[in-house]
Amino acid sequence: MKYLNDINAYAATHTVEELLHYVADLFPGAACLSSSLGQEDQVLTDMIARSQVPVRIFTLDTGRLFYETYELLDKTQARYKTPIEVYYPDALEVEDLVRTKGINGFYDSVENRKSCCAIRKVHPLTRALEGARAWITGIRADQSANRGLMEVAEWDTDKQLYKLNPLLHWSLDEVNHYIHTYHVPYNSLHDKGFISIGCAPCTRAIEPGEDPRAGRWWWESSHKECGLHGIK
Ligand code: SF4
Repeated sequence: MKYLNDINAYAATHTVEELLHYVADLFPGAACLSSSLGQEDQVLTDMIARSQVPVRIFTLDTGRLFYETYELLDKTQARYKTPIEVYYPDALEVEDLVRTKGINGFYDSVENRKSCCAIRKVHPLTRALEGARAWITGIRADQSANRGLMEVAEWDTDKQLYKLNPLLHWSLDEVNHYIHTYHVPYNSLHDKGFISIGCAPCTRAIEPGEDPRAGRWWWESSHKECGLHGIK
């Protein structure tokens, strides 16, 4: 974690594009963006492509995504001519999950839901991050109280790598402004009240003024994270 203070100091006085280059230079061949194809990740993908930042971009296909998300993946690859690596869950793990918990067993208990997220998201993420030293995310502070406590650069003890949140202090309005200014492709569900978009059966649109993550696992009282970011 010897670079933590340096990265945060650099982030405080430079643009996001400059920060992305700085991190790519610091960890040549070992920095990557995990994209869920949400609007924040689309902004980062656009910056990476536009500024030719040498970092890998990958996404996780859980097998339960919205049609609109697949459409956006296709559109994004075509637009930027940048390969977005797609990681899938282990087939045997999914088969066992469905056999023992049911195809929609995640509605039955928090434990089932966490098992599904572990198999469809967390395990593929672990594979995708193998060899990475810096993990770039589209997390913003105002997405939830937990996220508000984060820093632009953090040390992920669990994964033993640097976690970079370059848009941490951006508002949703700033994200949308960037998207419209640079004509960045975005998920058409955002225009239908979906703010945070994950798997289709676990995401719904929210009303104006609702918590941005209220549309995720809405049937649970307090769990609004899937374990990808280690926030419980
Ligand atoms: S969000 Fe829902 S469908 Fe997707 S991995 Fe988690 S529990 Fe499974």
